Amino acid sequence: MVERQLRARGLQDERVLAAMLAIPREQFVPEDERARAYTDEPLPIGFGQTISQPYMTALMAAALELTPSDNVLEVGAGSGYHAAVLGALAGRVIGIELIPELAAMARANLARTDRAGNVIVVEGDGSLGYPTAAPYDAISVAAAAEDVPPALAEQLKEGGRMVIPVGSPWEQDLLVIRKHGGRLLARAAACCRFVPLREGATHPVH
Ligand code: SAH
Repeated sequence: MVERQLRARGLQDERVLAAMLAIPREQFVPEDERARAYTDEPLPIGFGQTISQPYMTALMAAALELTPSDNVLEVGAGSGYHAAVLGALAGRVIGIELIPELAAMARANLARTDRAGNVIVVEGDGSLGYPTAAPYDAISVAAAAEDVPPALAEQLKEGGRMVIPVGSPWEQDLLVIRKHGGRLLARAAACCRFVPLREGATHPVH
């Protein structure tokens, strides 16, 4: 996976490649998908949601330029896999997940793989961020938004980085954003397709 899907496509950040090697992806996918855990595709994790393609996880992690002391928010924790990868690169990761069953699954996956030390998963609407642990050095969003949710912009530190798919429900640009002088400077790094970020939801929709 690391050689063929990541390095061969130009991902050269050695810390990110090491993190991708260190986290056992098969432990984060449902049992009947384990044989496909290292294939070049997103996989279903239940409740109509998916774990991203490994390349996308690595690309997003690299774009955040994490350091070992960074405080990170991951919106849409799903299986917990992406949060685990970020946890191998940063100081602390808060994963936030709207669907309670997936939040529980992410916690169980992180505990089983011994990654729960600096990665915690909370249940809630991540389009509102997670003010309790803000501000963040980096924010990673794993679901597609029409625009950058204002709460996430606010909870990002000056100099902080955010990756977020922004666009229509069918196709998005993966934006890599940096906060500079209180403003967000964005560049589009890739074309992508994520499940929708449910915004302003008060009840989880299954
Ligand atoms: N990062 C995950 C991928 C999960 S797919 C992984 O590595 O497995 C996107 C996730 O975002 C889904 O689990 C979905 O339930 C969640 N989601 C959608 N809208 C959300 C919101 N407003 N707040 C928190 N999570 C949300």
